[in-house]
Amino acid sequence: MACMSGKRPSEAALALQFNVAQLLKQATGARRGYDIAVEAPELDQQLLLMGPLHGQIACLRIGAGILVTGELETVVRLECVRCLSEFDLPIRVEIEEEFRPTIDIVTGLKVEQEPDQDQATLIDEQHILDLAEVIRQAVWLEIPASPICQPDCKGLCPQCGQNRNQVECSCQSNTVDARWVALLATRGASGT
Ligand SMILES: [Zn+2]
Ligand SMILES: [Zn+2]
Repeated sequence: MACMSGKRPSEAALALQFNVAQLLKQATGARRGYDIAVEAPELDQQLLLMGPLHGQIACLRIGAGILVTGELETVVRLECVRCLSEFDLPIRVEIEEEFRPTIDIVTGLKVEQEPDQDQATLIDEQHILDLAEVIRQAVWLEIPASPICQPDCKGLCPQCGQNRNQVECSCQSNTVDARWVALLATRGASGT
C-alpha cells in the first residue's frame, strides 16, 4: 500500500485527470478519445471496487466547454441484504457530462459560473478535467438499493441464524410458524 500522507494524489486518481488545455483551444466539434484502465481506484470510502475501472471516454469541444461521454465497467463488492454475505457485482456506467472551464483558455480571465454550477464538472485553473467525482456518482446510481447475492438467495434462518444457501439446518419445520409468531407479536405490540 502506498503511503497516503501528503497532498499528492494517488496514481489511480491521476489516471482520471485529463489536461484539456489543447482541446479547449480547438474549435467546437474537436474531439479526443481516451482509454481508461485504472486498477481499483479509491472513488469513495464506502465503495469497494474489486476490479479495474476500464472503458473509453470521448471529450468533445462544445461552446460552453467540454462534453464528456463514455462507458466504463468495474466490479463492486456488496453485502447481500438477505444472507449478509459479501458478493461482487459487475457494473457498467454511462457518462454524459458537460464540463465548464474556470479560466478562459484564450484570455486567461475567470469564467463567470452559474450559481448552481456543479463543482464536480468544473475544469480547474490548470485546465485539468477530473472525472473521479462524476464516475463516483454514476457508480452509486448503478448499485441496487437492496443488493441480493443471487435471485433465489435463501437468506439466514430466522431461528439459528445460519446461511441457508450453505447449510440445511434442522429448524426448517418450524420456520413458518416462527415467522407468524413474530408477525403477530409485532402487530399486537403496535396496537392495530
Ligand atoms: Zn444472499
Ligand atoms: Zn436454522
